Amino acid sequence: MPTMGALHAGHHSLMVAASSENEVGVGSIFVNPLQFGPAEDLEKYPRNEAADLEVAESAGITAMFCPDPAEMVQGLSTKVAVSGVSDQFEGQLRPGHFDGVATIVARLFGIVLPTRAYFGLKDLQQCAVVRTMVRDLCLPVDIRLLETVREPSGLALSSRNAYFSPEDREAAAQLPMVLKNVAGAITDGSGDIAKSISIGMAELAYLGFAVDYLELVDPLTMVPVRKIGEDSRLIVAARFKGVRLIDNISIYQK
Ligand code: AMP
Repeated sequence: MPTMGALHAGHHSLMVAASSENEVGVGSIFVNPLQFGPAEDLEKYPRNEAADLEVAESAGITAMFCPDPAEMVQGLSTKVAVSGVSDQFEGQLRPGHFDGVATIVARLFGIVLPTRAYFGLKDLQQCAVVRTMVRDLCLPVDIRLLETVREPSGLALSSRNAYFSPEDREAAAQLPMVLKNVAGAITDGSGDIAKSISIGMAELAYLGFAVDYLELVDPLTMVPVRKIGEDSRLIVAARFKGVRLIDNISIYQK
């Protein structure tokens, strides 16, 4: 179960699944420099290895792999790029991000040789990139996806929530509320999809969110859809009080 550390209850739930569904559960902590852009928060990304190891242990993880950045990236000649699913949304706004993710996930798979690997649906596009890579390279890994763990306010748990003041963290919970409103408007048929999305965007802007995107997509291909599918998910990315948030829900999530 790969992570970048600063572990919270979302990571814990994936680790519990990894350790309970397998004979041996292996986790990793690696703040992957290849997935950060030059203007991003690599240096200030929260790190707390001692607390993380306790979280992993409490989830029943057998072994944690915490490599040195140099060990993982220096002298690496191979880059894994998953085109198509990587191109839009996060991939468009964070050039090279998913190449960095895919390269390191492939390397971790090579090191650990897992039977199953666990990822959170919170990072929906990352799930699509990893699933596509595994399919294309015929990697013998079963990819398991788990639903997002949230604060009582509804805000998706994220290591970057630590950047918020307590008041701003509470106010940021309006993001998933708007997602639910838009999903409700789409599924109850009161408006068309494009119109429901543009109303949601306006609502978020009014609440102080700088929206990067709000879209209804197919979670396997990340292609925007204008007809509801069973698996369709509403995805959003927005900056609020200087913190960039991403989230998504199933169109039928209540
Ligand atoms: P990260 O440490 O941010 O790279 O995340 C490691 C894994 O935990 C990824 O598969 C994430 O999708 C997953 N994850 C992050 N936040 C959550 C959450 N709130 N609920 C469930 N899984 C999560």
